[in-house]
Amino acid sequence: MFECHNYGITGYGSASAEIMFIGMAPAKNEMQDGKPFTGPSGKLLDSLLAATKIKREDVYTTNLICWRTMDGPRNRDPYPTEIAPCAPRLLNEILTIKPKLIVGLGDLVAEQFITTRSFSRSALHRLDIAGHECWFMFTYHPAAALREGSEGKDKYIITNTMCNDFLKLADVVNTPVFDKPSYTVANLAEAQSLLAWLSEFQVLANIDVETGVDEDEIDNTNSKIGCISITPLGFENKSIIIQEELIKALRWHENIRWITHYGLFDKQVLKNYGVEITIHEDTCLLDYNINENRLHKVKNCGHEFVGAPFYEDAMKPYKKNFLAAPDPVLHLYNTYDTVVGNRVFKYLRKKQEPGPRNVYEKILIPAANVFAEIQHRGINISKDNMRNLLKLWYPELQALTAELDEMTGGINLNSNPQLSHYVYKVLRMPGGPSVDKQDILRLASANPFFNKLSRYRKLSKMIGTYIVGIYDDIKEDGLLHPVILLHGAATGRPSYVNPPSQTLPGPNSREGGEEFGEIRSIFVPMDEDHILCEADYQRGEFYTAAAHSNDKAMLYDLRTTDFHANSASILFNIPIDKLSGPQRSTGKAWNFRMFYALDHFGAAQHFNIHPEIAKEWHENFYKHKYFKFAEWRLLQKELIKTVGEVTTFHGRVRHFPLILSYKMLKRCWRQAINDPIQADLVDNTLLSAIELHYFLKEFDSYILLEGHDSILFDLHRDHLQTTIPVIQEVMSRSKHERMPIIPVDIKIGNDWTNLKEYHPELVYA
Ligand code: URA
Repeated sequence: MFECHNYGITGYGSASAEIMFIGMAPAKNEMQDGKPFTGPSGKLLDSLLAATKIKREDVYTTNLICWRTMDGPRNRDPYPTEIAPCAPRLLNEILTIKPKLIVGLGDLVAEQFITTRSFSRSALHRLDIAGHECWFMFTYHPAAALREGSEGKDKYIITNTMCNDFLKLADVVNTPVFDKPSYTVANLAEAQSLLAWLSEFQVLANIDVETGVDEDEIDNTNSKIGCISITPLGFENKSIIIQEELIKALRWHENIRWITHYGLFDKQVLKNYGVEITIHEDTCLLDYNINENRLHKVKNCGHEFVGAPFYEDAMKPYKKNFLAAPDPVLHLYNTYDTVVGNRVFKYLRKKQEPGPRNVYEKILIPAANVFAEIQHRGINISKDNMRNLLKLWYPELQALTAELDEMTGGINLNSNPQLSHYVYKVLRMPGGPSVDKQDILRLASANPFFNKLSRYRKLSKMIGTYIVGIYDDIKEDGLLHPVILLHGAATGRPSYVNPPSQTLPGPNSREGGEEFGEIRSIFVPMDEDHILCEADYQRGEFYTAAAHSNDKAMLYDLRTTDFHANSASILFNIPIDKLSGPQRSTGKAWNFRMFYALDHFGAAQHFNIHPEIAKEWHENFYKHKYFKFAEWRLLQKELIKTVGEVTTFHGRVRHFPLILSYKMLKRCWRQAINDPIQADLVDNTLLSAIELHYFLKEFDSYILLEGHDSILFDLHRDHLQTTIPVIQEVMSRSKHERMPIIPVDIKIGNDWTNLKEYHPELVYA
């Protein structure tokens, strides 16, 4: 019927398939077998389908063209001139099978179907193909996941995205079409009765506050509200719009059960208008709680899970200032956010298992409410200390820049290609082309240029990234308002943006040290009545590791010895008091490698020792001493291979849906050891912060920043005798029956660099 069939193979699969996969062109195996996707790409497709519990027999697979491309590179992408003659055959297959969902494998396939600007991977696109309406989604081509470094991304990320895309196929195939929603702009009486109704009947309602600035720019000084959309759950396709001028006149009952999407922002902006809301459910945290391996933006969730149209396109002309959009455009956009939000909420809520729900209810949601208040209050920054550091570092940076300029003939030191050319072509150094920190360190003894370059890089990072970067983040009220992302890392570690405060080097960190750790001195107490205090878990990771593995010997050693020295004494099999300095350091380095799933070959490489010695160390440490921990490490590997996930005490789940190679297994294994340990320590810290926040407020004392194993406070000087013992008690207390008591170190001072051990008998007033 179609001429192209004479040369090759057509589609294959169930005639009643609801899902049709479209690839590019058959390869060698497919030509031999007479059906699509039977070679390596097909095997991966089978694994992905198996992970989603969809049977290959129930789907239909086909290709853009039905013969193998023989000229040019092996299995190259087909040319447009090859796709066009085969298109009627493909169209005929679509119209015969009438799939509900077409999955395009690779961008080239997607380009044949999506002609709008919203060319978005993983999203659901509604298509009308010659009268047949269906959903279309595209993901990577399986070959991309099998080829290292393809499409500029690593295999691991590609596989991850493909897994996420496949995991939702069974759900999204029957997604109803998303009709355009409607809205009513409420007058005062209507808005008030809506709020009263929500309060009285405790109906969950989605709220979204529209402001003129980007979410991460929001602070308590400049964010003016345009309008607010509210969609009670069950309202489906409608919203009520509340305009800015009504906000202050309304009574916002505090007991309303709001659903937000990362509502920390909405909560803070409303606070500026004197309105207090409590986040009850949050679709961003819900999505993170269910699947830590994806993007959690409201638009992604909407497009991917519920087939929301690309409604954000209407706002593109007003990207710089949303409030400049005409009211109907802004109101419809705002409406979409809450209508989509509710559908996403219903979709995700069904997927949430009890374990993760526990973390979400007890930790993530309370933390969102607490950190909205913390972020809103802000952090004081000493511009004097900033200036002092600039005076210290800037002249040296200027001199170095001039010197390096002279040496290199004026290349741009921040351009890697230019630098690489200079290092490997002009200076003729061995290796290349990378000019990463490690490469520069490796070359340090070859030429004085490299030490100077390292110093230049360090100083410019301190000045550019930290001093200037932080200065730019200071808001109109003179304070920093770092944005905490509770969903920023798969491990559960909170991270910050504007500025990324968690990466700021400290005096005890490798990056900082005594000299550059001074950068933290720009963080100071709010005023003269307050003082900074940092409470830090001591060897928190190791206590948590001992708890996970139920290794009593490790717990005992942690409680009774200098743990790093003790490990050195185990490795070298000599008493602690006979250890040399370097041996002690090796003990510490070894301890941190415990979480890295190193076998003795890996250890030999890392510590630059003979494999036989590494083997002996391994035996001394894991076989003879901490064998429970060793067993637990192996158990984590078995779990990811068999169950595809590991869990934490508090109920977080870390997913490993597909492991394709030995290399990937090693990476996942390391995460399966490290991440539950990190997560439970983080949750201990978060639970402490939640409890302490409300207590401390009573004493005009506050949390400033939260690290994974530490909290920075701004404490009122008059109440230290009350607040510090409570901080000590709350933080060290076990937050789960399996978590041990972890010792906490408390330091206090007038800036974040210069903190000293707290002594209750000293007067800090
Ligand atoms: N790659 C494709 O795009 N299609 C096949 O059928 C096999 C490999």
